[in-house]
Formats: sequence, structure tokens, C-alpha cells
Amino acid sequence: MSQTIDCGKCGMLLYFGEEISRRLYMRAIPDEAAVLAAYDNTCPRCGAPLSTDSVKITFKRRAEHVA
Ligand SMILES: [Zn+2]
Repeated sequence: MSQTIDCGKCGMLLYFGEEISRRLYMRAIPDEAAVLAAYDNTCPRCGAPLSTDSVKITFKRRAEHVA
């Protein structure tokens, strides 16, 4: 699974990569809130306040099958 986080207002891509919950053990990215905090909880494009309720979080399955 991959995950994207988009601004709920203007659609700016804020995060794209491995599903964040799967990265917990690596402590690379603690959670969605930390991603938003990296932007000072404000969209760099439109200035909208970012929260886990206002952004659009999308999960996508990988297209390829597991070998
Ligand atoms: Zn925005």
C-alpha cells in the first residue's frame, strides 16, 4: 500500500510514499500529524490550515502482484 496526503482545499500533494503506519517501526515518519507539522500545519500553496480532518488521505494498493 502507498499513501498520499493532499491538501483538502487546493489538492497540493503533501506526502507520497509508503503507508505511514507501516513506517512506524522505522520511526521515519511517526504519523500523519507529524507530516502536517512539517508544514507548520499550514498548506504552503493556499495557506489553508492542515489537520488530519481537513486533508485528503488516500491509500492505494500496488498494481503489481506479490511474486
Ligand atoms: Zn492547499
